[in-house]
Amino acid sequence: MIVEPKVREYICTTAHPAGCEENVREQIAYVKAQGPKAGPKKVLVIGASTGYGLASRITAAFGCQAATLGIMFERPASGKRTATAGWYNTAAFEKFATQDGLYAKSINGDAFSAEVKKQAIDIIRRDLGQVDLVVYSLAAPRRSADGVTYSSTLKTVGSPFTEKSIDLRTNEIVTKSVEPATDKEIEGTIKVMGGEDWEDWIKVLQKAGVLAENAKTVAYSYIGPELTYPIYTHGTIGQAKNHLQKTAEKMNQELNGVTAVVSVNKALVTQASSAIPIVPLYLSILYKIMKEQGSHEDCIRQMDRLFRTKLLENPMPVDQEGRIRMDDWELDEKVQAEVMKVWAMMSTENLKEVSDIDGYWEDFYKMFGFRFEQVDYSQDVDVDVRIPSLE
Ligand code: NAD
Repeated sequence: MIVEPKVREYICTTAHPAGCEENVREQIAYVKAQGPKAGPKKVLVIGASTGYGLASRITAAFGCQAATLGIMFERPASGKRTATAGWYNTAAFEKFATQDGLYAKSINGDAFSAEVKKQAIDIIRRDLGQVDLVVYSLAAPRRSADGVTYSSTLKTVGSPFTEKSIDLRTNEIVTKSVEPATDKEIEGTIKVMGGEDWEDWIKVLQKAGVLAENAKTVAYSYIGPELTYPIYTHGTIGQAKNHLQKTAEKMNQELNGVTAVVSVNKALVTQASSAIPIVPLYLSILYKIMKEQGSHEDCIRQMDRLFRTKLLENPMPVDQEGRIRMDDWELDEKVQAEVMKVWAMMSTENLKEVSDIDGYWEDFYKMFGFRFEQVDYSQDVDVDVRIPSLE
């Protein structure tokens, strides 16, 4: 069938299989062009199908020649409905990995569940013996634990927050108000996006004997500029990220033979970040300024730099709190001073001129496999793509 994008504000409900394959192919080509890097050989990536997790998996596999087991929560095609982008990305990843003689298996299911953890342990034990790196890159709306379903919320804590934002349906600048979360919403966000499940994973892997001695585990966080503190760092999601950091410290104290670290990454267009109020407008300004200053990176460039210059170093270059800072270029004073200048003068009329709103949308469509020059979108494609390891 002919697949077209169907965009509903911050989500696209269709995905193009050939475009997603092209997206993965380009990320692989970037990593290969940087040359091989000694590193982990057996890697588990939790949240491996899109965004930072997919880029981590590609870097581990095609940069370090690692065998990878990837976990994701994606939907296959059914009838006239395409699969999700993460499904097609994973099919493409496995295809390219196999072509290069790299082991690649995937599990499609709820990473928070005991069943998926058990499935992962069984596969690691059978095929790999042990893993030496675990990347935790989940961005999930909810989590069921002990018979309760917790939801993650993107709200402020304490007082409401009103700022400029972009209406993604019309590309107009609007004023957006975000209400403070209830205690229950804060608790829910911490349960879903905090460190509890990360720690569960590491403990069950270790207990099962499938985590190598001196293995590393990394989870991803965000801080951003003061402008977005009320909605991010001081908001519900920021509380969860604090918990993630505390979990890393706790694991380092309590678990022998494993090093846990949080990497604070740059703000980028992903399915998770597009949904955060105010952030897409910030992103479109940030993109323009970082591109002009020559420091813009996408997911694959961030993850390739993480693996090449920080995560695998001994000792790891970390800040006072023990975190890897991949947001160093984003938070550079030269970048942020410009962002604030543009933010103050930004209006619907000058949006295209002072921001990279086109770059924002370019990345957005590409996430779902659209707008790749190499793909002929007028051609029929088979949307029912199989993921070899799930057969
Ligand atoms: P994303 O939406 O692109 O990826 C989320 C991944 O999690 C996907 O692979 C998805 O399949 C998987 N997933 C979701 N729920 C699942 C479940 N229940 N079971 C198994 N898999 C599940 O998101 P992203 O932006 O790459 O975010 C990954 C991490 O990076 C998050 O912790 C996020 O906070 C962090 N981060 C993102 C940014 C950014 O700007 N995008 C910046 C810094 C840090």
